[in-house]
Amino acid sequence: MEQYSGKSICQGIAIGRIRIYSKEERLVKRNKVEDVKGEVARYRLATQTAIKELKDLRELAAKEVGEANADIFEVHAMMLEDGDYIDSVENIITTQETNAEYAVAITGDNFYTMFSTMEDEYFKARAIDVKDISERVIAILSNKTTGSDIGDEPIILVAEDLTPSETVQMDKDKLLAFSTLKGSKNSHTAILARTMNIPAIIGIPMNKEWDGQMAIVDGFTGTLTINPNQDMLDHLKVKQQEGIKNRELLQEMKGKEDITLDGRKVKLYANIGGLSDLPIVQKNDAKGIGLFRSEFLYLENDHLPTEEEQLKVYKSVLEIMAGKKVIVRTMDIGADKQVDYLNLEKEDNPALGYRAIRICLDQKDIFKTQLRALFRASIYGNLSIMYPMIISLEEVHKIKQVVNEVKKELTEQGFPFVEVEHGIMIETPAAVIMSAELAEEVDFFSIGTNDLTQYTLAIDRQNSKLEPFYNPHHPAIFRMIKMVVDNAHQNNCWVGICGELGADLSFTDTFLQMGVDELSVSPNSILPIRKKIREFSIKNLD
Ligand code: PEP
Ligand code: MG
Repeated sequence: MEQYSGKSICQGIAIGRIRIYSKEERLVKRNKVEDVKGEVARYRLATQTAIKELKDLRELAAKEVGEANADIFEVHAMMLEDGDYIDSVENIITTQETNAEYAVAITGDNFYTMFSTMEDEYFKARAIDVKDISERVIAILSNKTTGSDIGDEPIILVAEDLTPSETVQMDKDKLLAFSTLKGSKNSHTAILARTMNIPAIIGIPMNKEWDGQMAIVDGFTGTLTINPNQDMLDHLKVKQQEGIKNRELLQEMKGKEDITLDGRKVKLYANIGGLSDLPIVQKNDAKGIGLFRSEFLYLENDHLPTEEEQLKVYKSVLEIMAGKKVIVRTMDIGADKQVDYLNLEKEDNPALGYRAIRICLDQKDIFKTQLRALFRASIYGNLSIMYPMIISLEEVHKIKQVVNEVKKELTEQGFPFVEVEHGIMIETPAAVIMSAELAEEVDFFSIGTNDLTQYTLAIDRQNSKLEPFYNPHHPAIFRMIKMVVDNAHQNNCWVGICGELGADLSFTDTFLQMGVDELSVSPNSILPIRKKIREFSIKNLD
């Protein structure tokens, strides 16, 4: 038995076999083959397997992210059947007498270059698809698994690092827990782990020899145990049962109102990253969605999600939430949330860089597509739209202009929509200072304490070395929250908190005393906060 200590980013206990997730580049070697016909047959068989895999993946994706998003796998299957692609691979095998892996890799590279240099945006976007299908066939030929495919058995994933897009693409039913060397408590990967309620730890070096071994991730203490002995297993199984019991006790809170003993009502909403988080939102009886991080729609895809694709997702979320408030935050890409197909330049300081509303106001087509999808979805439920990373009144004015253009165009084209509430994220010190003026312009604020802490304390939320300094409890943050609430209320604007600090039970009473109207937290924090809210009276606080 070996034990390693790291830092917990999501509590809970998981017992299972380790799967090492390694993203080393697969070096494909060129080998001479004698049996050229046999090699062509091997390639054809691998293609058939890949097409079958893609069919299964399509079905799975349809359940997780909707039919429209799942269609990409159908496109991938069609690309594998493309005559030019097949001819190229078979030609290389036959004329150069090489192994199929090499022929596929060369064909993939050639097609990638050809597509990526095309003018047409559609074909440009196919470049990454051709790379993807080639990697899939190579993986099958060499008996390896691809990218985020974590196999069929439930596993504990051990990796050097995980990006938000890798995490979001993993099959949540198979991922018992994860342990990484890199990462930070405030990263989006950590936030996703908490949303999906997957026990997770960081700060633990990866050892490839652990692959397949039994392990325990203890997300309470932040330890990873390899080959646990029976005593350890028994002890943790008891702890696991206690956790289940605690959760059962909290079930009593389901269906109850979010109201303090002296009658102050609070909006207690959930943060989500996509449709697949809705079952857990419903299980925890959130009264609405306070933050739908729509950028995950962009991260899950290998192309800009189209208006129709987005409409499908927003419509489903609104319909499933059946009239409860759903606040969709417009695309917050940038910083740690990067998508290859946007081809954004590498920046020295991405957190201070080209991100979120800055991209939207600069590349208006992307913004308008999202707004059109949102307004078209508005007729299916109770939608609000929220804009991230705001620093000035001018930005809000520009947003309003684009919104008006979109509404005008939709009206002219005969698309029905309803008016919605508009809000902004307060996550920069500039927005805090300008909150009185900003409140006159919008219906609500949502305080993003994750970024507000980063920008106020000038501490990179991604840098694990700086974690001891990243203090969301800094008095400056609390003073800012109070200032924002007062300025908002004086201007008829309601205020929520959707950063991770909003879920900190030791401050629930402080926030309500300050006048915060809404708390939007990861779905698993809903019932503990409801319990807390119902246990105190604001009047009786100091
Ligand atoms: C925040 O910054 O607090 C927030 C909720 O947004 P994100 O964590 O997605 O940046
Ligand atoms: Mg933020």
